[in-house]
Amino acid sequence: MDTPSFNRLGLAQPLLDALAEKSYSEPSPIQAAAIPILLEGRDLLACAQTGTGKTASFALPALNATSRIGKKPRPGEIRTLILTPTRELAVQVADSFKGYGSKMPFRVGLVHGGVSQHPQVRALKRGVDVLVATPGRLLDLDEQGHVDYSKINMFVLDEADRMLDMGFVEDIRQIAQHIPEERQTVMFSATMAPAITKLAGTLLRDPEGIRIAPDLTTAERVEQQLFYVKPNDRTSLLLSLLDEREDDDGLSIIFSKTRHHAEKLGKFLYREGYEADSIHGGKSQNARQRILNRFKDGKTRILIATDVAARGIDVKNIKLVINFDLPMEAENYVHRIGRTARAGDSGLALSFCGGNDGGLLKDIHKFIKSDIPVNEEHEYHCGETADKVGRFLQRGKGGSGSGGRGRRGPRNRGRRPEGGYQKKRSFRRNKARSSHRSS
Ligand code: AMP
Repeated sequence: MDTPSFNRLGLAQPLLDALAEKSYSEPSPIQAAAIPILLEGRDLLACAQTGTGKTASFALPALNATSRIGKKPRPGEIRTLILTPTRELAVQVADSFKGYGSKMPFRVGLVHGGVSQHPQVRALKRGVDVLVATPGRLLDLDEQGHVDYSKINMFVLDEADRMLDMGFVEDIRQIAQHIPEERQTVMFSATMAPAITKLAGTLLRDPEGIRIAPDLTTAERVEQQLFYVKPNDRTSLLLSLLDEREDDDGLSIIFSKTRHHAEKLGKFLYREGYEADSIHGGKSQNARQRILNRFKDGKTRILIATDVAARGIDVKNIKLVINFDLPMEAENYVHRIGRTARAGDSGLALSFCGGNDGGLLKDIHKFIKSDIPVNEEHEYHCGETADKVGRFLQRGKGGSGSGGRGRRGPRNRGRRPEGGYQKKRSFRRNKARSSHRSS
């Protein structure tokens, strides 16, 4: 079936010009499905992940409406409100708007925590066509009387599943209550968990539903490998994998389960001669943005991240994702490996599995509906670990396992990863490289 080209979707000329400048020739599947629905003014519940082009699928219709109005927003006015779970995603969505709207006049405002509120208040006072906000800061500003919801005609919840995971459901409800009922509401979510459909039921009116090539399209483009590894060999395995790819010009993300470990791993890699930054919720917003910019510019080639900080990061040229720790929630596996293989590229995702990670691995296999291929050739492959996990996977097939969602309790919080960060002499690097910037 032919994908309709952007020209046939009925978008305003300045948007088509911006898309041409970006060399987007065809809408992605989510764009082809969502844009006509949104241009008609219908509500939409869309199941799509980052990397599918979902941002443009709501940004283009929102900008299209703005270009049709043809008038600047009045002081205090907000026309489109977009809620995102994280500051990074908010910045990224606002940047996407600037890109797609580069050929037309419009104002985008950004409201998120971790930075001074004064410029945000000034932008709200002036009025914005589009406001991209995280729920917490928006409510803060609202309590201070700086937010006028009364002119909003489009309300978008981006990564709604993540917002629910982060406990924003009441904030969302509170915000939604203020927005006129005669609005268009759009919800994007990577999964369609019951909590999402329940929230959609209260916020959306007679929505169209779209489910775009679920979670596996990205995963299919990513070459995945699993390494069974002994506790004390994790860091050596990491170094050897990075050494093997030292001449590649791509960027790498390493996922670690806690802030503390991300930080420690960054320092460890620096000592080993690798320039690496870590990004996590414990850093100020400005520091996080600086680190992200350095990574985007290729000045830092390795980023160590926790799940929350990495969600939504859209950086081109990430060739390698390493799961130093398996994610506690299986769906994050897909989000993590989706950091590579952006916009149709291919990528490599390498995951470490220790003897006690059977439950986590089992959940991932269940979620992606296949097994991650095991790399048994590597010198750090550990047969004993493989056997132990193999026995676990065989036991009670089909259950969620001890490492599943049940393990998210306090028992695991802040636990050291297996083996800590012991170094192996054979991989110590003597080349001094550029300096480590961790904040
Ligand atoms: P998103 O899922 O919105 O985060 O987009 C993922 C990446 O795909 C971003 O780098 C976009 O710039 C890019 N992208 C979005 N739509 C298209 C398109 N139609 N053609 C090519 N690239 C696109």
